[in-house]
This record gives sequence, C-alpha cells and structure tokens, in this order.
Amino acid sequence: MKKLKAILVSLLLMLAGWQCCFFSAMMIRSFRVEKEQSKLSSTNFQISYQGILKQEAAAILKSLEENYHPIRTALYDPAHEPIHVFIHATQKQFNTATGLINSTANGTSRGPNAFHLHYQTWFNSIFPANMPKVAVHEFTHCVQLNILIQEAISKSNDPVGASFDKAFGKQFSENYPQWYWEALCDYEAGIVNKVSVRYGMKGNPTLESLNNSNQIYNVGYAIIDYIVSKWGKEKLPELIRTYGDLEKVLGVSETEFEKGWYQFVSENY
Ligand SMILES: [Zn+2]
Repeated sequence: MKKLKAILVSLLLMLAGWQCCFFSAMMIRSFRVEKEQSKLSSTNFQISYQGILKQEAAAILKSLEENYHPIRTALYDPAHEPIHVFIHATQKQFNTATGLINSTANGTSRGPNAFHLHYQTWFNSIFPANMPKVAVHEFTHCVQLNILIQEAISKSNDPVGASFDKAFGKQFSENYPQWYWEALCDYEAGIVNKVSVRYGMKGNPTLESLNNSNQIYNVGYAIIDYIVSKWGKEKLPELIRTYGDLEKVLGVSETEFEKGWYQFVSENY
C-alpha cells in the first residue's frame, strides 16, 4: 500500500513538473512572438505574420524558396506573380481572415498568388503539423491554379472579364478532381507517414470516395508515388492540364488504376 502511495505521489509530482514546464514555455513564447503585424520578403514570396516568432516565419520562407523552382519546374508552371503568405497565430484569426466558418484547417489557398496558414504549435494544437511543409502544400495549390488559369486564359476569347472568372470557377469546382488537387500537394511537400497510409487504405478507398473524404490526407502521397513510380514524374503536369484524366494520360481506367495502386501500397507501405 505504501509502495502504491509513493508511486502515485511520484506521478503527481511528475505531472505538476511537466505542467510547470509547459506553462513556463508558453509564457516565455508569449513574450517573444511578434506582437505587431510584421513582414518578411524574398524574390518570390511576401510573408505577413503576427503572433509567431520571427524565426518561425523565416523557416517557412526558407522552405518555400527551396521548393519554389523544383516544384514549378517539375509541373511546368508558367510565369508566376509573387505569392502573398498570411500567417495567423490562432484558428479564430485564420477563420476570420479566410472567411471559413468553424474551420479546423491549418492552411488554405486563395487563388494562384495567395495563401493563408494557421500556425500550429504544441500550445494551440494536440498534434501540431510541420508548418514549413504545410506552406509547401499550399504553395503547390497556387501552382496548380496558376497552370489551370493560364491554360484557360490561352484558350479564352475574353480572358479579363468577370465572365471568365465565373466560367473558370465553375469549370474548376465541378471538374478538377479533389483527390488529385490534394494528393499532388502532399507529394510535393513530402507529407506522408506509413502508419497513416495503412490506416487510410483500410477498405481500399476509391478515388471517387477520396473526393469527399479527409482520408485523402492520409493516402494522397501514396497515390502520386504510384503514378511517379509506374509512369514517371512527367505525367504529373499532364494530369493537371487534363483535369486528372487517367485514361488519356496513363492509358488506364479508374478501376484499373485503383487496383494497381492498392497492390503498390501493399508492397511499399
Ligand atoms: Zn490542400
């Protein structure tokens, strides 16, 4: 009994110690973060941030610049305007700025030249994401959009009017496959872990089902990995421009593709 009591006391002391460290670290952080709206710029990105550390904003900028040319070159992105990145310290600030209601997202793109991030840390999230990787994920959305818009402009008789924006928006939201939209971003950002892939593959999800499921964030990387392994990386920009037309680009039906992908995952993940 005495022994049990001693163990309980030790556990309580450890918990109290951990809590003390946690809140001290949170307090120290609150003194060190940038209180005012701050900016950090490079040739290709302009970052606006508040409520995070300058070095955290700098790490995001570094990751974006390192990935800028490799991703744009691999996907044949045409000329791209500088991209504005808005980093928010809280979910509420992120949701207000993006107009998203009750969102728990940590990033969202706004057209080809802007995206927002909710900066996750151990103090505002149970499992904080790797934010430099999330930034590259959102940047890849900007690249996909830029390619699609420039392609649509080149085919349009009236590429500057409001009717173009409306027509493009309709075409994109109705026909661009959500599974490819997200999977390509996770692939380019290197967001993957085998445990999540195996979990997401339970019940062998179809591509169609992944258009409306958060499981795409578990298995997306493995879809593109399969395409690159079997057909080569040069198929990726073709799949963007054809709105994910597997038959036309890879010469397989969606069902055949899924079968091959399940096999690939079972052998490699
Ligand atoms: Zn995304």
